[in-house]
Amino acid sequence: MTLRSPIKHCRECGTAVVYRVPDDGDTKLRAVCPACGTVHYENPLNVVGTVPVLGDRVLLCLRNIEPRRGKWTLPAGFMELNETSAEGAARETDEEAGAQIEMGRLFSVVNVPRVGQVHFFYLATLQSDVFAPGFETIEARLFAEDEIPWDEIAFRTVKVTLEQYFADRRSGALGSGHVHSLDVV
Ligand code: ZN
Repeated sequence: MTLRSPIKHCRECGTAVVYRVPDDGDTKLRAVCPACGTVHYENPLNVVGTVPVLGDRVLLCLRNIEPRRGKWTLPAGFMELNETSAEGAARETDEEAGAQIEMGRLFSVVNVPRVGQVHFFYLATLQSDVFAPGFETIEARLFAEDEIPWDEIAFRTVKVTLEQYFADRRSGALGSGHVHSLDVV
């Protein structure tokens, strides 16, 4: 995850923007166009993914792209326009793992205010242990809890979600339907 670069040019007219607090009672710095007055609002992005499960094992993907190439992750990526969060999570699972799944419920919402992102992870039940990962993934593999490569997990959002998943499974709380609100700071 990286911080987005600042806006450089006006989306309406192409003039170089300046960062200042708009005159309308706003309190935050915005990219304001000095030519046409357009204010460019920047808001957090949604990342959507799944916790794909087969029996007592969870599917992880070995990343083939930066950032964190060579580290393990749950299938997840930026939500696209014209899809729901669950559709996006299923799409990412297909693209990154080539896994056949039955989508389950929302499991975790992970805020990452430092980079302006909110991550949503859904539970998913794998329909087989045959995977066909796309170019973003070197390998898709199933891990039991004691096999999880905790020191080789790509993102803290994934780590906290996996920790919560296994904690819930040990305590029997998975069936409660509780959605975890987690923060990564
Ligand atoms: Zn402009």
